[in-house]
Amino acid sequence: MYADIIVDISSENLDRTYQYRIPDELADRAVVGAPALISFGRGNRMIRGYIVGLSGEPKIEEGRIKTIADIPEGDIVIESRLISLAYWIRENYGASMNEALHTVIPVKKKIKQLVRRRILPACSKEELAGEYETAARRGYAARERLLKALLEEGSLDYEDAMKRCRLTPAVLKPLEGKVVTVLSDTVFRSSLPGDLKMKKPPALNEMQQAIVDSIVRSFREGERKTCLIHGVTGSGKTEVYMELIDHVVKEGYQAIMLIPEISLTYQTVMRFYGRFGDRVSILHSRMSAGERYDQSVRAKEGAIDIMIGPRSAVFTPFQRLGLIILDEEHESSYKSEMPPKYHARETAIERARQCGAFVVLGSATPSVESYYKALKGEYALYRLPKRAGPGRMPSVWIADMREELKQKNRSIFSARLKEMMADRLNRHQQIMLFINRRGFAGFVSCRSCGHVMKCPHCDVSLTAHNNGTLVCHYCGHSQAQPAKCPVCGSPYIAGFGIGTQKVETLVHKEFPDARVLRMDADTTRGKEGYERILKSFSGREADILIGTQMIVKGHDFSGVTLVGILAADLSLYAPDYRAAERTFELLLQAGGRAGRGSMAGDVVIQTYHPEHYSIRAAASGSYEEFYEQEIAYRRLTGYPPAGHIMVILIGSKNEERAGQAAGTVMEKAKEAVTAKETVLVGPAPAQLSKANDIYRQVIYVRDREYCRLTALKNSLERWLKKDMPLSGCAVQFDFDPMTGY
Ligand code: ADP
Ligand code: ZN
Ligand code: ZN
Repeated sequence: MYADIIVDISSENLDRTYQYRIPDELADRAVVGAPALISFGRGNRMIRGYIVGLSGEPKIEEGRIKTIADIPEGDIVIESRLISLAYWIRENYGASMNEALHTVIPVKKKIKQLVRRRILPACSKEELAGEYETAARRGYAARERLLKALLEEGSLDYEDAMKRCRLTPAVLKPLEGKVVTVLSDTVFRSSLPGDLKMKKPPALNEMQQAIVDSIVRSFREGERKTCLIHGVTGSGKTEVYMELIDHVVKEGYQAIMLIPEISLTYQTVMRFYGRFGDRVSILHSRMSAGERYDQSVRAKEGAIDIMIGPRSAVFTPFQRLGLIILDEEHESSYKSEMPPKYHARETAIERARQCGAFVVLGSATPSVESYYKALKGEYALYRLPKRAGPGRMPSVWIADMREELKQKNRSIFSARLKEMMADRLNRHQQIMLFINRRGFAGFVSCRSCGHVMKCPHCDVSLTAHNNGTLVCHYCGHSQAQPAKCPVCGSPYIAGFGIGTQKVETLVHKEFPDARVLRMDADTTRGKEGYERILKSFSGREADILIGTQMIVKGHDFSGVTLVGILAADLSLYAPDYRAAERTFELLLQAGGRAGRGSMAGDVVIQTYHPEHYSIRAAASGSYEEFYEQEIAYRRLTGYPPAGHIMVILIGSKNEERAGQAAGTVMEKAKEAVTAKETVLVGPAPAQLSKANDIYRQVIYVRDREYCRLTALKNSLERWLKKDMPLSGCAVQFDFDPMTGY
């Protein structure tokens, strides 16, 4: 037997492995991740390396292979485990070992730490309100602005508040200590805020308790099957997660809780602090590299038991990891956009496998992949079909926009939505208008019959280019944009696009007295912009909130009784096999915003395709209905989970060079493919054919077997590295992509 060994982490030669023979007496201890003492280089220095792979075949001439000197006994250190995880990531997603290691192991960067400060109340809310009134009475305007903001938002980012409330340090000085405290953000994020009371969790209901009991029992019995909790929004999944974490921590293990960055709100964080106090720490993307490094040191030293954070928190170096939870496991932000393009779900499962931990996934709309595995028995499936707190599921109405056009209604609001909006405004209830802009808005459709221009070869929508042509981004097919609909002859055929700003203008026109808030990239600029808009809406300072998918996640507004979905179709025809899944997810989650309080809610879905299964299933609120249709389609086409896709992305600053290079890669790939089941498509210009001055070409490779795709990737990687055939070009791989290319 032979071992592939990488030498010390700080070495330059991270990117390659060295093969050593495993002596019989060490065979038991030679496992992936084990540290090994080896003699290295010309001078035969004794150094420490890490085993990252085992094989039966020598890669070089047998006589030249040296033998491992020793494998120290004892526990596997966390570094070894993370190194083998990096190796697994590199194998499964493509990247250099260097990139993979940098993804997995935080590096201590010598950069100036960005110290952010926060303003927190130093007294009770009542006292704060008293101070506010006094300031208002005495006419201390700046103090009044500060205290108002603090009362509304709970805590404030220092720099942001200074600007926004037009403050000077002199305003804060007399208040410090008694009324407010200023803490560095790191302190705030990593320790318990002074005014926080530990909260007693609610008693779990029967269904929640049954899930906790079952998972805890199988954990104690040593079973490590991944669990999927399919529970509607508000069914109490988070309470289940916290209860599981509590069990695991009490038994001396540590837990990682992954959530999408967008759900990492003050409320979520406080819920965890309130339950677990200063044993919790948070990672988030606004932290500097130095702050992240500090967090990982605390985790390694055992100063905390629970880490909450987005995708990269999966690498938290806990020595005794017992549990990894992924909330909203279907979210595309769990996939890295940078090489290695790893998926946090699969990576979590692999990490758990390596160290004997277990994984719990949760979602109201599980990914088709996860649900498929759950039905096959690979994951244990649990359900929470009802809301835990108050609030019923809303009634859903479909507005067929083709009919509206026939009735001469060319406005963006259907008659039904307009009527319901007027009704809610009269009753002083709140409305959310959601514009589905996720995915790609470049497709061309007929507003009379709903026909979408599709590629004759690929069954994906064609994309409108400025020069009046329609292009297929899978195969490169192009044709002129028609002036009339080829199906019904209507002249109303055009690219589809609508913005939040436009909607705001139109709302003002229809309902001049309504108070409107808009949430999009423009209005959420600045660190707290997003949170501020949500707070002001939940404080009933506006009647209507308009936004994109940003408004779908996170917050519950008890005053909202109507959700209007303006362009439900917009994500349906993105040139991407996940388009239907993403549409269904968004519609269901957006609809879930209505009727969270004691009042019943309504949802109006405006669509040109009322017959589409994503729309119909979202209207009936049935995940199963959607899944049945979708899995049939995936089986037919061989898309994940029925098969797998590898995208090879070739980029170059020079357009011609990108094309040539893609051709060369394609030829090489054809040579390297051995199985006739492997399907190669392309090369073609990517959907986003030029980004940051880089021209992008794509090759699609499909195969039922994931391992045949990684084998092809490995062979291409070797060729790219050895022959350096493509100077000035970059090649990336993406497995089972979350977005279209
Ligand atoms: P999810 O994570 O599935 O969206 P949450 O755990 O956030 O659901 O629960 C939704 C709401 O219901 C929260 O306000 C939560 O405090 C409340 N809740 C959850 N479980 C219970 C319970 N067993 N008893 C009372 N309230 C509960
Ligand atoms: Zn095509
Ligand atoms: Zn038509």
